[in-house]
Amino acid sequence: MAMKPPRPCRHPGCPVLTRDGWCEKHRPRYTRGASDAWHWMYSLPVWTERLRPAQLTREPFCRECAKAGRRVRATVVDHIVPHRGNWALFVDPANHQSLCKQCHDRKTMREQCEERQKGRRGY
Ligand SMILES: [Zn+2]
Ligand SMILES: [Zn+2]
Repeated sequence: MAMKPPRPCRHPGCPVLTRDGWCEKHRPRYTRGASDAWHWMYSLPVWTERLRPAQLTREPFCRECAKAGRRVRATVVDHIVPHRGNWALFVDPANHQSLCKQCHDRKTMREQCEERQKGRRGY
């Protein structure tokens, strides 16, 4: 069986020859990028100085752990409905919940999983 001939990267102007259409530099990353797009919002003073500390004062313990009867100090303010860059959802205190890092990481992982499945279906 003959190997497919290499073809140039699909990125406009990129001369690198590839086997699957993308060079290492231009291969699209489906799992990353989306959450980075609004990461800057978390460095705004309205978040770091007001909304985040306000939520952690209001609810100092992890909400997920509390459901399981554990008292774990929360370190992360999470958005119940993922805001995806939506300002109203981002700043709405009713959409904030306190989580410990472990619960937050688990939730993020679950969301990314669902996101990826949605993306596949769209193909
Ligand atoms: Zn390329
Ligand atoms: Zn927790």
